[in-house]
Amino acid sequence: MNMPSRQEPDFESALRFSCTACGRCCHGLRLLLSLSEAVGWLEHGGRVELLCDAAPDMPFAEGSGEAYRAARAVPATSQALPVTVAVLLTAVFDGPCPNLGPDMLCGAYDRRPNACRIYPAEIRPDRRIVPEEKLCPAGAWGGTQPVFVDPASGMADPVTAVAITGARTAGVEDVAGKAMLMDLLGIDQVALANEGYAVWKPASDALLSALRSVVDSAPIDPRPIHVQIISPRAQTRQMIVEAEGADAAPDPARGYDYLPLFA
Ligand code: SF4
Ligand code: SF4
Repeated sequence: MNMPSRQEPDFESALRFSCTACGRCCHGLRLLLSLSEAVGWLEHGGRVELLCDAAPDMPFAEGSGEAYRAARAVPATSQALPVTVAVLLTAVFDGPCPNLGPDMLCGAYDRRPNACRIYPAEIRPDRRIVPEEKLCPAGAWGGTQPVFVDPASGMADPVTAVAITGARTAGVEDVAGKAMLMDLLGIDQVALANEGYAVWKPASDALLSALRSVVDSAPIDPRPIHVQIISPRAQTRQMIVEAEGADAAPDPARGYDYLPLFA
């Protein structure tokens, strides 16, 4: 059973919020999906891409963003360098979500992904909700709106709390399946974490087939995963080599785009 989660770090006073159904958060998005959510999204005609990056496999402080990421990443090696590879399945659409009706209401409300149930809260426990950074109109916050985050007990909205717990749990439970998915899809080049993403774009039918076989199969010990770490920057590639990792320049002919995090 999913237990309500806390939204940390805590607020000094209650954060009040209620969705106004303005629909702004349903446009031009990348929605984070679990493996099973990705199957459903593809089965309903949506598009799914995989954002992949690697970070050195090392101990991180408990509760840190790095530790959260590592617990949900695939153990791998890059030549002699132990790494963890984050494989983020994302629903992608330009403009309005294919499920968004002209009345700005969700046409897939009962099967909407957890990410939709969580916004404008944060999935990661190390991230604080900053209303000014959200798409929600000013009238959605404060005033007489219900308490969204309680300074003492955390997330107060039960739907959001259950969705946060579900997303965090799925992130851990999906690791073995994501390792299988990398193997099935031939994902062997990934970006360096915090520098960019390799955005793998397999054909929807091939991805759905691979996902179904992953979701339907009994858990197995995945084969060892080996990756090259890609970067457009010679300085970064030199650093990867010095760390005894395998480097490469981005090669879109392989079926991915390189998405830099910084200009
Ligand atoms: S699935 Fe529904 S809630 Fe989620 S982005 Fe699409 S329209 Fe919005
Ligand atoms: S942007 Fe905020 S207020 Fe508007 S629909 Fe999304 S969650 Fe609701």
